[in-house]
Parts: sequence; structure tokens; C-alpha cells
Amino acid sequence: MKDGHPPLLSAEEVWARMRKDAVPVTECEKVTLAQALSRVLAQDVRAPITVPGFDNSAMDGYAFRAADAQDRRELPLSLRVAAGDKPEALAPGTACRIFTGAPLPSGADTVVIQERCERRGDTLILPEQWTPHANVRRAGEDIRAGDVILSDGQTLTPQAVGLAASCGFTEILARRRLRVAVLSTGDELRPAGSGPLREGQIYDSNRPMLNALLMRLGCEIHAAGALGDDLARTRQALREAAQTADVIVTTGGVSVGEEDHVKAAVEAEGTLSLWRVAIKPGKPLAFGRVGGAHFLGLPGNPVSAFVTFVLFVQPFLKALMGATPTDLRAFPVHAGFERKTPDSRREFVRARLVTRDDGALWTHTHPRQSSGVLSSTVWAEGLVDIAAGRCVAEGDLVPFLPFEGVLD
Ligand code: AMP
Ligand code: MG
Repeated sequence: MKDGHPPLLSAEEVWARMRKDAVPVTECEKVTLAQALSRVLAQDVRAPITVPGFDNSAMDGYAFRAADAQDRRELPLSLRVAAGDKPEALAPGTACRIFTGAPLPSGADTVVIQERCERRGDTLILPEQWTPHANVRRAGEDIRAGDVILSDGQTLTPQAVGLAASCGFTEILARRRLRVAVLSTGDELRPAGSGPLREGQIYDSNRPMLNALLMRLGCEIHAAGALGDDLARTRQALREAAQTADVIVTTGGVSVGEEDHVKAAVEAEGTLSLWRVAIKPGKPLAFGRVGGAHFLGLPGNPVSAFVTFVLFVQPFLKALMGATPTDLRAFPVHAGFERKTPDSRREFVRARLVTRDDGALWTHTHPRQSSGVLSSTVWAEGLVDIAAGRCVAEGDLVPFLPFEGVLD
């Protein structure tokens, strides 16, 4: 209670408490594959067919039966098969011109690529050495009928959309989308497009940024608005948003200043279960409930809002969406910077990666780490995670958390 407030929570404590509260939505809906990107599957998907459904050639070349060419290099050509054809059987002792993806005719078991063969009229001359059964893609090499190809809780990537289509699916069963309300607070805020700024005003960057982050996650923006610094108005907006939203996300007004009303408004209209986390930037994060909705109060500083979204909001929303949990996966890279004085808070530093000539990955931090410098988040490719109390020497290994992979 150093400053009259409860002690700061560690990021781990915050993740653990949020995870406990994240009961996934259960309602499902059918979604066409064209709309399925980023949706969370509500059931395992089993393949109704085998893919590929037939043995086929992996290359442009010539097909024959290995046993027919054991002691001779010349075979008469009796057949030509292209992709999409339905070939007749290959006559014994003969070969077949064949193309990539074309069904292997029965009677053939080997393909030699065209670059290694010679042709004399209708006679194929094989190279001295070739490998029996080579260059053939077997039926079921990718998928066997009945296999689980996609699992309940999996988030559909473009590759997963392709895989479902390869089995003939046109739609999947997904959990319903989350309804999220985004509210920004601050008397100084004006929406872009509302004319030039008066002295003391700034454009609201957090709300469009949060909307964009939520759209990437596949959420529905249910209600959104900008509030002044006013307790009654904030209470009313929270009450209204809680009627339709699964989650309410606010920015600003969650610190300890006289003009910060969000915390008091949540305490009046619902419950605040945690507040303030020992990280930099992003200390004044708040979490609780208003009516039936979860409440996440992000700091107003744009970088803090972005970083707390990446670290806490995004995994929490994924859990609510029913997505199988994945850790935020940082990987070790060499520090291209040094940190001589340790900080009492765990710091997430905006940084980029550089590959040096020897192939090693190094990270460089943005020179302006103030939480108002939003341009640094556009410059950055991720965050370096520096533990509380840690000093860093140039070349030390530090964990790098890429935005890519986290934000999709
Ligand atoms: P607060 O957390 O309300 O004390 O705000 C901290 C800082 O972030 C102040 O400089 C605010 O002007 C700024 N800020 C708050 N909300 C926004 C927003 N939606 N867009 C841009 N800046 C903001
Ligand atoms: Mg404010």
C-alpha cells in the first residue's frame, strides 16, 4: 500500500485471474468457408473423403511399371495422361506420358521426370538409374476419409480454409462472434473527421485502433463511443453497453487523477476484480464486470492501450471465443542495446529485428519509449520483454514477442 493503493499485480497473476473468468461462448452458427477466416471451430471436422483420392504423378514425366524396366531401358509409349483425365490401364511392357496431378494408370507404379528421359519417336529411353516408385503421390497421402482434419477450438487460418475446401466443405460450424463495446474517455478527444482541433484537443486514436484490433480478431463491434470525463455519463454508458456486449473495453480515465472516473463508475455499476499491473507501459489496467459483461479498462496513453491489448485483452478475448489457448510465444534474440539501470517493473520495449550476416537475430529498440509515441508501435515488429530488476548487456539473449502471430 505504498501510495495508498493495493500493491501492483504481476502479469502472471493478471493472466491467471483473467483465464479463470474466461468462460467461452457456447452458441454456434454455420459459416460459409468464404466467411470463415479467423472464426473458431465449434466441433472437430472429419474428412468425408480421402485426399488425394487416387495415386497421381508428382511431376511431368513418364510412368511405367518398375518390374517392366528391370533389364531394359527402352519402352514403347502407349498412353498419354494429363491432369483431370480418367486413364485406361497401361498395357504391360509399355510406358505412358504423364503430367503433374494426372492419375497414375493402373499397371504403372513409377514416374521418371521428363528432364532425365529421352524420346525417340514413340519410344521412351530411360536414364541408367532411376528409383522404383519415385515421383508418385499416393491416394490418402494428405488425408484419409474419417481423419480429424480440424479440431474444436481451432482458429481458422487461410491454410485451414484451404484444407476444409480440399475435402469438399463449403461451410463449417463456428462459435458465435464476440460482441465488444469500445468506449474512449477524455474531454480532450475529438473524432478524426470532426474538423480541426482546438487548442488542448487531440484526435481519438485509441478507439479506431482498438476497433481495428478487434476486427482482426473477428469480433463484432457492438457499441462504441467517446465519453467525456464525467462520472454520471460514464456510468450510464457502461450500463447501456453491458446490455448487449459480451465485453466492454474502455480507454483512459482509469488512473488516479481527479478526472479519472472509469474505475469509480465500474465500482458503482459492477465490480472491479483487479487493477494495476506491474508492467511498463500499461500499469493502470483494470478488469472486472458490469452486469453480464466483462469489463477491461485500458490506459489512455495510446502505446499503453496497444501493449495491454496485445498482452492481456487479446488472449482473454481468444479464450472467450472458445479458442484453444496458446501461450504468448516469445523467442530469444540478441540484444542490440544495453540496459544499465534496472526497472522495478517488467518492461515491454518496442523493438525490431535485424538478421546479421552470420544469420543470428538481433533486436533494436525504438529510441523513444514514451507511452505517447504511437509511431513507435508502427515502426516496431514486436516487444522485448525485460524482467523487473534485469540489466541487459549488448549481445545478451532477451525474449522477443512478435506482433505477427500474436495479433492474428
Ligand atoms: P488518461 O489515461 O485518461 O489519463 O490518458 C492518458 C493520456 O492518454 C492523456 O495524454 C490522454 O490525452 C491520452 N489519451 C487518452 N485517451 C486517448 C485516446 N482515445 N486517443 C488518444 N490519446 C488518448
Ligand atoms: Mg483521460
